[in-house]
Amino acid sequence: MRRRTPRAALKPGAVIAAVEPGSIAQEAGLGAGDRIVSINGAPATDLIQLHYAAAQPRLSILVQRPDGQELLVEIDKDEEEDLGLRFEDPLFDRIVTCVNRCIFCFVHQSPKGLRRSLYIMDDDLRLSVLDANFITLTNWTEEEWQRVLEQHLSPLYISVHATDDDVRAFLMGTERARGIMGQLRRLAQAGIVMHTQLVLCPGINDGPQLDRSIADLASLFPHVRTISVVPVGLTRFRRHLYPLRSYEPDEARAVLRQVRWWQRRSLAERGTRLVFAADEWYVLARRWVPPAEAYEEFPQLANGIGLLRKLIDEVRQAEREIRRAGCLAAGSGGRRRVLWVTGVSASAVLRALAGRLARVAPGVEIEVEAVVNRFYGPTVTVAGLLTGGDLRDALAARGDLASFDAVLLPDVTLKADAPVFLDDMTLDELNRAVGRPLEVLPVDGRALVEASLGLALTSSGPAG
Ligand code: SF4
Repeated sequence: MRRRTPRAALKPGAVIAAVEPGSIAQEAGLGAGDRIVSINGAPATDLIQLHYAAAQPRLSILVQRPDGQELLVEIDKDEEEDLGLRFEDPLFDRIVTCVNRCIFCFVHQSPKGLRRSLYIMDDDLRLSVLDANFITLTNWTEEEWQRVLEQHLSPLYISVHATDDDVRAFLMGTERARGIMGQLRRLAQAGIVMHTQLVLCPGINDGPQLDRSIADLASLFPHVRTISVVPVGLTRFRRHLYPLRSYEPDEARAVLRQVRWWQRRSLAERGTRLVFAADEWYVLARRWVPPAEAYEEFPQLANGIGLLRKLIDEVRQAEREIRRAGCLAAGSGGRRRVLWVTGVSASAVLRALAGRLARVAPGVEIEVEAVVNRFYGPTVTVAGLLTGGDLRDALAARGDLASFDAVLLPDVTLKADAPVFLDDMTLDELNRAVGRPLEVLPVDGRALVEASLGLALTSSGPAG
């Protein structure tokens, strides 16, 4: 049975956040605070539905005003003309959650007492279309199938993990995980593009199972457009759960060899590598990440496939711009000490980049603080899962923060829409606790270089 999270408690329904000036919606008298109930009789459940319904030339929009009154708005328009409505949330009803019990589920190995949103186990088709979230297809009814086929919802991001039914059912803790290849074939026949992922667990779906999964998925190319291979992430809160372990460096190197073998074969047969290894494998294997062309167009960047390479290349590009403009003399930016704060996984790459940058800008001295994740446990190494508490303890323990001109923190440590860490500590609280303000930056090499040098780069080099 499908479980639904009470999303309405988190956010109201299809409430208009803004209406574009001069748009059809404004002409029709719609305004911020109005709630769209239905379009041409179809309930407004999400942004996809709304765009699909609004593509008709004649619209009857049932609207509820902030005072509770309902009115029917009739609109005639060109088929592709945008209504000009903006919403705060792409889903107007509740998130659809999963029916699985994956043996590696991060939510199941999270401690109690965290922010409520961190326990939402979404498995929502709409979020796959709108936000590239991975879904499993185990909770689809025929209604979802009809919607996907009728509205041609593509591309979809699908967690496969294994194409062998027994292995997939075991990994995902449900018999509903069986039959994935039949489901993928049905999507392929409808022309739906699929980006897939395989989360590997040692001894379960790696080795020959990984070969089988890749071969099966590759048989659905070009509809299966990418296959990402990701190592399982384990926290220290794995009580009463299936005994899993993390990958060792030599095992990570074996997975990378396997991926490279499939990449070479696929490149020769299909003109695309098709299979991509997550950055974590290279960190685990203590190997440098491959060049940008090996990631093709970075189709699964948000899934951690190629983030390190992108960062390296952005920093190198910024360096080239500095060099072209003439090497920064020590005096041009003055002497400057900068601290880059990150998780353990990116620290080796960042140290290498800091060394390169120091050669280009000799007046700048950069240190890297690799913060160990004591909250989830040291096997969780990405910056995005660091808590305010761990950052505070690591930075306070240094005792030298006052000596830095800038302390830089990646924005992935904070909520997307608020300066709050995973443990609900605010950035202000962290700043107060460590006795100085931290500068929050996007994960972007150019921004990192600019903030480190204390200047803005123009396309022709440093400015100001
Ligand atoms: S699909 Fe699996 S990993 Fe994802 S939330 Fe559900 S149980 Fe957890």
